[in-house]
Amino acid sequence: MTEYTINLPGSQMPDAWYNIAADFPSAVPPPLHPGTKEPLAPSDLGAIFPDNLIEQEMSTERWISIPGEVMDAYKLWRPTPLRRAYRLEKALDTPAKIFYKNESVSPSGSHKLNTAVPQAYYNKEAGVNTLTTETGAGQWGTALSIACSMFDMHCTVYMVKVSFEQKPYRRSLIQTFGAEIVPSPSDTTDFGKAYLAKHPDSPGALGIAISEAVEVAVKSGGAIRYSLGSVLNHVMLHQTIIGEEARLQMESIDEYPDVVIGCCGGGSNLAGLSFPYARDKFNGKDITLLAVEPSACPTLTRGVYGYDFGDTGELTPLLIQYTLGHDFIPPSIHSGGLRYHGVASQIAHMVHHGYMEARALQQTKVFEAGMLFARCEGIVPAPESCHAILGAVDEAKRCRESGEAKTILFNLSGHGHFDMSSYESYLSGKLTDYDLEESLIQEATKDILQYQG
Ligand SMILES: *Cc1c(COP(=O)(O)O)cnc(C)c1O
Repeated sequence: MTEYTINLPGSQMPDAWYNIAADFPSAVPPPLHPGTKEPLAPSDLGAIFPDNLIEQEMSTERWISIPGEVMDAYKLWRPTPLRRAYRLEKALDTPAKIFYKNESVSPSGSHKLNTAVPQAYYNKEAGVNTLTTETGAGQWGTALSIACSMFDMHCTVYMVKVSFEQKPYRRSLIQTFGAEIVPSPSDTTDFGKAYLAKHPDSPGALGIAISEAVEVAVKSGGAIRYSLGSVLNHVMLHQTIIGEEARLQMESIDEYPDVVIGCCGGGSNLAGLSFPYARDKFNGKDITLLAVEPSACPTLTRGVYGYDFGDTGELTPLLIQYTLGHDFIPPSIHSGGLRYHGVASQIAHMVHHGYMEARALQQTKVFEAGMLFARCEGIVPAPESCHAILGAVDEAKRCRESGEAKTILFNLSGHGHFDMSSYESYLSGKLTDYDLEESLIQEATKDILQYQG
């Protein structure tokens, strides 16, 4: 009988996260203080994050043990299944083997709970009882609200206004777990008030919602902390549970990938699957790591490599990254998620030094690949995940041409059950392809300090 699902017994679940900072051949340029532009001291982050997470953010220890209470929570859905997409292979008539790690089985429906749980746990350990955050499409708000309910904490989610209005079920889901939702920009923060005064009809953006959530934490005097769902080192770290599991699952069937693929917004699900393989790549292993992003928000392929803020209000530290500029708002005709202007420093470092490749893909082809996957494998993928699927499909088609039987591994970062309006747009022919004009990128990035070296 053909084996579709490669399960890992719970008893063999990895009990440590992998910290890529221990193995980078050259160090990632440090975060800078937004005021002084000097390298950040750990204490500078103290107004936003608890000390235990700051320690992880700056750590260069290779392995960081997963606390018992986090392991217990992980066991609600981990280890996640690794599956071989036989039907997709057949549909593509490819000699390639296609595997995917199925992160859609988590209670929140995506990989984001992998970091929401430890972030809630470490804050609770540090005596914090309330977390604030932002959410765009809603997956991160869902994940953090679930994690906070697990640890009996309060959670306030600043939700990008247009999503708040367009995604009532996402809203109800977040509220089901007890979190409070504020549509952003709002009049509950100074930044929100100032922004609304200038742009009363603003649909909101992730960068604005981040500014609001950060402001609430900074002004709370330590009672409230902020939590971020991607981009930061400790988030990448927590997500490596994905790749560490995948390694064990593939080893158990004597397989090893030639190509590892993830979609890239802030970079966390991609880091989660690929960083455990980057370890081998640094040691000379011939393996391709591939980031796939939308051509409507082409951060890695067309952004500037330099220091930029994470938010519109310029409250966050300056991080080295590829960026389209912190004021950049992706075109509204784009429906495929992955709308963040920047990317994790660690992912940018990988791409800048040639350890990772990046490709930008058009949304109609992305959804087409998602439909094919759904019909072959029975899972409706999140629009973000469809980018990784198309990356894998393109690779498999190349194998069909060349006759090469590569082993492809991609991350199915989430399911699309709350994104059916995007599918509806696709099915009714309303989605169009979009190439961002170079002049728009130049304008949005004109003040970015380019980084040499
Ligand atoms: C948030 C999200 C992404 C993008 O975020 P990354 O940090 O780049 O992983 C991708 N897929 C799904 C399902 C998401 O919820």
